[in-house]
Amino acid sequence: MKTFCILFAFTLVGTCATPRYTTKIQNLKDSIQLVDSAAVVKYANTITSEELKTHLYTFSSDEFEGREAGEKGHQLAANFLKTYYQNEHIESAYGGDNYFQTIPSGFFNNNTKDTDNVLAFIEGSEKPDEIVVISAHLDHLGIEDDGQINNGADDDGSGTVALMEMAQAFNTAKKEGFGPKRSILFLHFTAEELGKKGSEYYTMYPAFPIENTVADLNIDMIGRVDDLHTNNKDYIYLIGSDRLSKELHYLSEKVNEAYFNIYLDYKYNALRESNNYYSRSDHYNFATKGVPVIFYFNGEHADYHKPTDTPDKIDYPLLQRRAQLVFATAWQIANQEHRIVLDEDNELLK
Ligand SMILES: [Zn+2]
Repeated sequence: MKTFCILFAFTLVGTCATPRYTTKIQNLKDSIQLVDSAAVVKYANTITSEELKTHLYTFSSDEFEGREAGEKGHQLAANFLKTYYQNEHIESAYGGDNYFQTIPSGFFNNNTKDTDNVLAFIEGSEKPDEIVVISAHLDHLGIEDDGQINNGADDDGSGTVALMEMAQAFNTAKKEGFGPKRSILFLHFTAEELGKKGSEYYTMYPAFPIENTVADLNIDMIGRVDDLHTNNKDYIYLIGSDRLSKELHYLSEKVNEAYFNIYLDYKYNALRESNNYYSRSDHYNFATKGVPVIFYFNGEHADYHKPTDTPDKIDYPLLQRRAQLVFATAWQIANQEHRIVLDEDNELLK
């Protein structure tokens, strides 16, 4: 009898629940309407491998001494970003010339000195209070005891320069009458390498209320190819996209299919995946507060966390494509009619 009941229950699940859920997901996919296709392509194409390369050779140069949080090189790197945004006439989130959120040394458990997150901001034209965050960490590992500098070109120079180029693209679009409807916050975190402390601090003391934060698209290493993709390098790992909002996941897929057709690898998105990358970069501090996230990542490689992570090893055309993918995804989130919906609130999934 017991066996029968289990079989009976299993049969019910197998024949009824699965097709119904498939229908709901299909309805959700169909409900996503891409916006502004011509403009997306036009402004995505202003993100170029040449400019990414120029920025990255500066950002990961020895001058910034491996950008260790609280140290001189990190401050120089933060100032470099501030100067860039000022020259591009992209505002701060705090107004005036204050682009920094200072994290006091007391927030750290070690001897880290005061250090800054860097925030640049493009205000939305229709729903300025709704914030789309695009993030990457600007810090890295500093200088080894033997004097070798950890340049961190991929980690996370690649994400940093992608943000610089995306901000310029959104700003150019705004100047030409295609500004985003929702606001976009370009958020460069300090102290990721010290345990995601920059994003932990930001999500405790956000510039804009967390409940108004629509999504976080976080980039940590998108300029290289890992050993699993040497024969198919047109890929990127996506992690977390379906955890809180299936709409975000399918929106992301739809944008990619429409404009890029990059192979989106979900290997590291599996629940209980042993590397647990989902919890290992800054997006996680948003996810734990209920903000949907996508983490973009190329996987590890032989130069990961070594002084040999240098800008000559970056694949710039690939970095361009991946940055353009994040840009187009952010554009859709910022400009579609409704704010992306959490699964628990999504009528289409009930
Ligand atoms: Zn990193």
